Amino acid sequence: RNETMVIGEILVRNARLYPDKIGYVFEGQRRTHRAHLARCSRLANALAQRGLARQARVAILAQNCIEYVETFGAGELSGFIIVNLNWRLAVPELRAILEDCRPEVLIFEAQFAEQVEAVSDLLVGQARRISIGPGADWAEKYEQVLAESSETLPAMRAKPNDTAYLIYTSGTTGKPKGVMVGHEGFLHGARAISLESNVYQTDRMLVVMPLFHIGGKSLMAGWTYRGATIYLERSFDVDAILDRISAERITCAHFAPAMIHSLLESPNLDHHDLSSLRYICYASAPMNVTLLRRAMRRFGPILAQIYGLTESINATILHPHQHILDGPDDQTRRLASAGQPFLGVEIKVVSDDGSDCPADEIGHILVRDGALMQGYWNNNVVTTEVINDGWFHTGDMGFFDREGFLFVADRKKDMIISGGENIYSREVEEALLTHPAVEHVAVIGVPDEQWGEAVKACVVLRKATCATEQELIEHCRKSIASYKKPRSVDFLGDLPRLFNGKIDKKALRTPYWRGQTRQVS
Ligand code: ATP
Repeated sequence: RNETMVIGEILVRNARLYPDKIGYVFEGQRRTHRAHLARCSRLANALAQRGLARQARVAILAQNCIEYVETFGAGELSGFIIVNLNWRLAVPELRAILEDCRPEVLIFEAQFAEQVEAVSDLLVGQARRISIGPGADWAEKYEQVLAESSETLPAMRAKPNDTAYLIYTSGTTGKPKGVMVGHEGFLHGARAISLESNVYQTDRMLVVMPLFHIGGKSLMAGWTYRGATIYLERSFDVDAILDRISAERITCAHFAPAMIHSLLESPNLDHHDLSSLRYICYASAPMNVTLLRRAMRRFGPILAQIYGLTESINATILHPHQHILDGPDDQTRRLASAGQPFLGVEIKVVSDDGSDCPADEIGHILVRDGALMQGYWNNNVVTTEVINDGWFHTGDMGFFDREGFLFVADRKKDMIISGGENIYSREVEEALLTHPAVEHVAVIGVPDEQWGEAVKACVVLRKATCATEQELIEHCRKSIASYKKPRSVDFLGDLPRLFNGKIDKKALRTPYWRGQTRQVS
């Protein structure tokens, strides 16, 4: 085993091969690879001086910022486990996570000082709090901590079997679980992204997905792996993103489907020169085909889809050349597919009894891959429930077509069982989205005395359009079987979403299920 193969080696290699190349751009700051390594080393050395050993937990509560990437870097070099916290969580949710992982250090942006004060009792022993930016004077200051430390490469180095990150899943379907991402597994994933996305050292990659999410972190790593320049955005602001792409001649970007929708809706879209873009990756949630077609018409054949999970990083990819807008039906239907497995990733679709499903038959999606998580932190019971003989049970339902393209039908927990029939919410959503008045939709199962569950559509209509409940239900009849059509439609001003743009179906379902338990939950 090559003892040097830990994630920190990417930083060391970039600083050696491209010392003066800009590695990171953030809010006007431009950092060379050499300067970046020096600052990551300073932080790693400072943490070691404060008594932190390898595999100590260092939590970070911040929006995307350059210090975030440096904190990752310090952990990647010295083997601290970086716990990237979702800054949108409410204090009780943060407490639940910190109680679970008990970090030794909490690095935070001063804007979150109040939350940090409310959870400080959960930091272990002499735990340190280090604040970024003005304010929170009771904490150590990030810049001072770095200034007082050495920029030589840290003596304490990560080991390949170490845990690199502890990422709490978004909790779309339940209590957040701490996914232990290992150095080896993550490097495997970064290499796969880099290879499959044909990353160039000259790329300028826009990173706007939150860094506390595996998608943002792992896609960024694919580009960092080749020494490309990362343009980090604090958050998603349509106009700022459009300006950045045209002013900096961005070549690659990674967006959630909801972000692509916002870009396409922007009245300023056509006032920007976006011709530098050669690759747009969309991931983290299903992208409906109606929106995908719009995106392809506007941006051209440069879209790539990734299907992945926190637990297994990247599972499948649908490459740009596989996005076929016009052509035979069997090829255009691929737009609804998540693509084919990444190199080295094994995927199978199995029925309830564990036997392999034939092509076109929906079953449970299982993944086996070198990038698989090391397990859930403090939760061996659930780890052994979801990993069996190396196969990870994704909790997603789907099928392979005859050409080996995977279609993700639904999360098992979002699937609706009505009158004994399985109804996949995504199929009903796709049908509704072909109606011109429908802008956003989420289909959920609600209790029904006769059928167990009934299909309900929660719809946001486009501005200045109208449609009745009956009209939308009838519209579905054109493309899906009658038993799948919604029994009712709620018209909403907006849909509840998680930080990464995913629709929060649990929040939509909750009011209907008060006092009752869902069969699939
Ligand atoms: P929790 O496990 O707490 O419910 P989560 O499932 O949202 O949280 P993530 O690991 O962030 O945690 O998301 C992975 C899920 O996102 C997948 O299981 C899948 O349902 C969905 N997903 C990701 N990429 C795609 C894609 N390209 N197409 C369809 N669904 C996707």
